[in-house]
Amino acid sequence: MIRPHILLVEDEPNIARGIVFNLEEEGYRVTHAETGEAALLHLTHETFALAILDLMLPGIGGLEVCRAIRRQDLRLPVLILTARGEEKDRIAGLAAGADDYLTKPFSLDEFLLRIKGMLRRSEWYRPEGAGGRFHFGGNEVDLKGKRAVTARGVVQLTDLEVRMLRLFLTRDNEAISRRELLESVWGISPDSETRTLDNFIVRLRKYFEPDPAAPIHFLTERGRGYRFVRDPAKPQSAAGAPVPNE
Ligand code: CA
Repeated sequence: MIRPHILLVEDEPNIARGIVFNLEEEGYRVTHAETGEAALLHLTHETFALAILDLMLPGIGGLEVCRAIRRQDLRLPVLILTARGEEKDRIAGLAAGADDYLTKPFSLDEFLLRIKGMLRRSEWYRPEGAGGRFHFGGNEVDLKGKRAVTARGVVQLTDLEVRMLRLFLTRDNEAISRRELLESVWGISPDSETRTLDNFIVRLRKYFEPDPAAPIHFLTERGRGYRFVRDPAKPQSAAGAPVPNE
């Protein structure tokens, strides 16, 4: 699993420390903001899988942060933390676009289950490719996080690998010429007599193919370039492309 990145907005240091510690223990990556202002800054520069918002913050409050999140992202799961008995806060939070709430003080187990459930549901509804994530042949590729989880383990991807994978993954079952691959991934002259591209494909096959010597996803298009096939079981019928093995 790729570690989901969680934004925690909480001004009370003791509570924040406890939450950060426990979320990290569970394998999440956590960014902690002490103020609404800091939270908004993180939200413009980073991508999160979930946000936890304390409503009572100095300066810009949690409700304001929640509304700001909803203006730019309808899908980011938001959990608000409210004070005991403040029903009007919970209602205001849900009205501001929060998905769920917990009342302080809360049980740690319930908190962690809530987070897990929210992340799982958001994965179900997330369209393929959103947030830079793709799945094929049992592999998960996270283009933004520059990581992939494969049958052979976790792979850290280089910038060039990310560029090439983006090109392939967004153009499933389309033959892409050597010229285009060289230009868009390396930005070099397509006339170059280079084995770089072929060496790269060898590496991608080693990462992602069940049998790198008999590729089913990263196929050679003789005399043209390469073609990515996300689902080899599906009949291949891209425009103008020959249907293999018929
Ligand atoms: Ca507070």
